[in-house]
Amino acid sequence: MNPQALTITLLLITAGSLICSIILWRLLTAQNNKAQAAYSTHRKEHKTILAKTKAERRELKLVLNAFDDALVIMDESSVIQIANESARRLCQGRKLRGKSIENAFLENEICQYITTALSKKEADQQKIILTNSGSSLGQNNRIEDTAWIIDYAPLPSYDLSNDSSDPNDSSLLHRVILRNVTAEHRTDQVKREFVANASHELRTPLAIISGYLENLIDDDVVDSPATARRILTTMRKHSERISRLIEEMLIISKLESGASAQLNNEPFQLNDIINSITERLASLIQKQQARIITNFTPDNITLTGDSFYWEQALYNIIENALKQNADSPLNIEIKSMINEQNDQITIEIIDNGKGIPAAHLPYIFNRFYRVQKHHSQNEVKGTGLGLSIVKHAIEAHGGTITATSQPGVKTTFKITCPHTSNQKSD
Ligand code: ADP
Repeated sequence: MNPQALTITLLLITAGSLICSIILWRLLTAQNNKAQAAYSTHRKEHKTILAKTKAERRELKLVLNAFDDALVIMDESSVIQIANESARRLCQGRKLRGKSIENAFLENEICQYITTALSKKEADQQKIILTNSGSSLGQNNRIEDTAWIIDYAPLPSYDLSNDSSDPNDSSLLHRVILRNVTAEHRTDQVKREFVANASHELRTPLAIISGYLENLIDDDVVDSPATARRILTTMRKHSERISRLIEEMLIISKLESGASAQLNNEPFQLNDIINSITERLASLIQKQQARIITNFTPDNITLTGDSFYWEQALYNIIENALKQNADSPLNIEIKSMINEQNDQITIEIIDNGKGIPAAHLPYIFNRFYRVQKHHSQNEVKGTGLGLSIVKHAIEAHGGTITATSQPGVKTTFKITCPHTSNQKSD
């Protein structure tokens, strides 16, 4: 080959390789660009999915935490997979996920119930009353009983990581909902106690009346007018007691059924009410030589409220002072003033009688509570409902009542009530 042909061949080979290199480089760059574009699209998609998942998780958390009831979802081995905020609160904020139910809820009764329900795998509901103190549920050092409804149900298997349910998977998840029903439980308890106390209080005078009736029928007491009169007088006292009990129970039940909405509010003079009470109690006041002293600032106080309940409340307080101090000459002072600054009216009923021992003071407004429980057969005891009515009536008017006592020196019932808010118009 001549040198010229060789040079041309070499040049052609060099040019060919250069072109090939360029084509290869172009191809590689295009490929790389494609890969980079695919990568960035994938990244974008991934980011979108992540953001969506995060948003969904946040939503789920929000929904779960929106429930006041505690919700716990466990797997077959009673290991908690999901727990909402209320459930964590019940366990003093401890992290629950991954813990077995025994390690999460320290209450034995609840653990036992859940474990049994889990083994039966049947939907079930039960009310549990926790009576021991220092519970792990709710607050520390719990003294009062708390009541819980525990609702168990097996759930169809659901792959939490896959977001899908597997029809072939026979394993189950388990959900438990714990609802705090302490308030309802207490209301029920109060109702039950009320019915029990009311039945007891009614049964006693009825038994006495029926005993005397038997005497009247069987014996010859009718022949002795004096004995008959004594028996009939006692019977009348006890039948009056039954009437009073029923009347007072009706007033309480009316006041408890949200009577504030049904109050017959209209303006009245405090003086008029006190005069009506002293008239009604005149014979008792006279018998005990009691002195009723009124001290109002200003002299004429107009209140707006239900005068029936106000009279009933003040009557009960004044009658109590008289009833409880039958043996001593008594001073009962009724003080009332309007505090313009905070627009409150205060009414104090102060007596200088035997008073109420400090140990009893916290309970005297409870229904059927009496300081002295045992009375003689002929002396008809109080119903124990008087002060409960007073409290309900004052509270229905937006007020409060307190009692303080220095036995033998001074016992004060102090009512504080909004003044103008009580007034419709002056
Ligand atoms: P009761 O029908 O027994 O009077 P209340 O509810 O009116 O029932 O009063 C509860 C208890 O409070 C009474 O049994 C009485 O022992 C005590 N009490 C109330 N007011 C007085 C008072 N002014 N002085 C002494 N004890 C009082």
